[in-house]
Amino acid sequence: MYCPKCEKNIPDERLDEINKRLQEQFNKDSLSKGLCPVCGTKLLAPKKKAGK
Ligand SMILES: [Zn+2]
Repeated sequence: MYCPKCEKNIPDERLDEINKRLQEQFNKDSLSKGLCPVCGTKLLAPKKKAGK
């Protein structure tokens, strides 16, 4: 997932791990709603590159 505001990429394989940590440490569930935990912007799913 990608945050257009922070210009940050969150790799899919780390989403669960980061989400779990945010919930445990900060009681934030933004990621499970598809929102950036930093700025609250809706995260975008990056398009998969064709042919690779
Ligand atoms: Zn953000």
